Amino acid sequence: MKRLYTIGRIKGGMKFTCTHCAHHVSTLDFDLRDGNLRTQAATAINRHATAVHHEPVMFSSLDAQQHTWRA
Ligand SMILES: [Zn+2]
Repeated sequence: MKRLYTIGRIKGGMKFTCTHCAHHVSTLDFDLRDGNLRTQAATAINRHATAVHHEPVMFSSLDAQQHTWRA
């Protein structure tokens, strides 16, 4: 399984950093009243990866087709 982010500890929470770029979010960015902080942070990173890096894996077959087509 491919990881889209790395998790690190910061003061008062946890920091989720994109594995593709310097983009990051932390649990401090979210409100506990909206739900589990780690879930919210992971969801935000996944959304970023999907929008910016065309992750998750469901897009990789499309990339492969485009590379083949260009070749
Ligand atoms: Zn990124």
